[in-house]
Amino acid sequence: MREVAYTDIVETVSRLAIEANTFLGEDVLRALEAAAASEESPLGKQVLAEILENDRLAASERLPICQDTGAAVVFVEMGEEVSIKGGSLFDAIHAGVRKGYVEGYLRKSMVADPLRRQNTKDNTPAVIHVELVPGDRLKLTLLPKGGGAENMSRMTMLTPAHGAEGVKQFVLETVEKAGPNACPPVIVGVGIGGTFDTVGMLAKKALLRPVGSTHPDPFYAEMEKELLERINNLGIGPMGYGGRVTALAVHIEAAPCHIVSLPVAVNLQCHAARVKWAEL
Ligand code: SF4
Repeated sequence: MREVAYTDIVETVSRLAIEANTFLGEDVLRALEAAAASEESPLGKQVLAEILENDRLAASERLPICQDTGAAVVFVEMGEEVSIKGGSLFDAIHAGVRKGYVEGYLRKSMVADPLRRQNTKDNTPAVIHVELVPGDRLKLTLLPKGGGAENMSRMTMLTPAHGAEGVKQFVLETVEKAGPNACPPVIVGVGIGGTFDTVGMLAKKALLRPVGSTHPDPFYAEMEKELLERINNLGIGPMGYGGRVTALAVHIEAAPCHIVSLPVAVNLQCHAARVKWAEL
């Protein structure tokens, strides 16, 4: 077994929280630059230029890209030969989120209870997804997820008769209903298959893929391409001011499912598509 220190996890998660909220990934910046170059609407072009200027300023001034610094969603790939020394994995992640959000002066957006709504004041708890993988490495990926785009996300239980076109219609309907509220241009995470409880997680996991990457399965790669084109024909445009660029990418994650089911989830990610990862 390889030991990973509790304190290293705390420090890493804290750093990821601050970096993710300050420095937008190169893949997203490149996609926004390409969108600014191709957008036909003058207002849409101007909005994209302002988004890019905001992203550059955030990085140079070490300020958050957006005031909503999100719920801290953490995906963990834990090697089966890793043991945590000095504490538990979950405690370390929560402590790292607490440290990063407090020391980085990031907005604290978590309430302890969905109805009584008392702010926890340190952005904990994190939302944690753990996957056991072969090996002795520990990969931590932090995705600060803003509430605007999250609120416009949807899921449904289709039947197999709805088929691929039913899935596409649901995705298009979700983006259309979201309009400007998801702060477009968006990245569209689509989960297909699994069960009611897992399909949302698939849609969120789809958002981790680098923007501009192609799905390894040609069937889904083609579906992503078609969906992106149909979404960009909706005319919503950057921040909903009209235009050709409503989405930067569509990413699909599919999983086996029951013979009578076709679960679908759409997790929208705004233009502040913040993801940072580290391996210990
Ligand atoms: S949806 Fe994204 S860009 Fe819009 S306010 Fe929330 S975090 Fe910021």
